[in-house]
Amino acid sequence: MVIDPTNPDETDNATQEESVWRDGAYLVFRRREPDLPDQCILCNAPAEGKRVTSGVRDPVAILEHARVEVGLCPDHWSKEAWAQRRPWMLGLLGIGLLALADFLSDSGIPFLETVTAFLGILLLAAAGLLAKLKGKLLKAKRVERQFVWLEDIHPNYLAELPDLAEEPETETQA
Ligand SMILES: [Zn+2]
Repeated sequence: MVIDPTNPDETDNATQEESVWRDGAYLVFRRREPDLPDQCILCNAPAEGKRVTSGVRDPVAILEHARVEVGLCPDHWSKEAWAQRRPWMLGLLGIGLLALADFLSDSGIPFLETVTAFLGILLLAAAGLLAKLKGKLLKAKRVERQFVWLEDIHPNYLAELPDLAEEPETETQA
């Protein structure tokens, strides 16, 4: 079947075949309401409804960005959720230690206060660093006005999608 993704008539009754494709090693889908498989993009296990939302950016046309939502299996989902939460938890712990140091300043044990304050600052610094280094789950190969190309998708996930024989005729990149 030849699919013309630019044909607006096909948007109304879009099925998985009409909004999601594989393009070589890449996952291509319509930015608006793509019907992505309920499977993990990292290992192709059933996602059981679990999704993760993330921002992606075109590596060249950096003004082109999109928010996309993809399936993750419970295992990868909890790993990702933990990775996203970790900097916040460290930051909160750091603030807690600084508050404790302030409280200890009345304790008459200056050494304890210094150590606690130092640990608090260390945790805050680590939280900031982690937030910056946080690995990107999704990497876009290309982002256009209507379509997104994602890389690092599990081959079995891609294998179940229709091949994008013809690249969609999207707007040329700025
Ligand atoms: Zn997985």
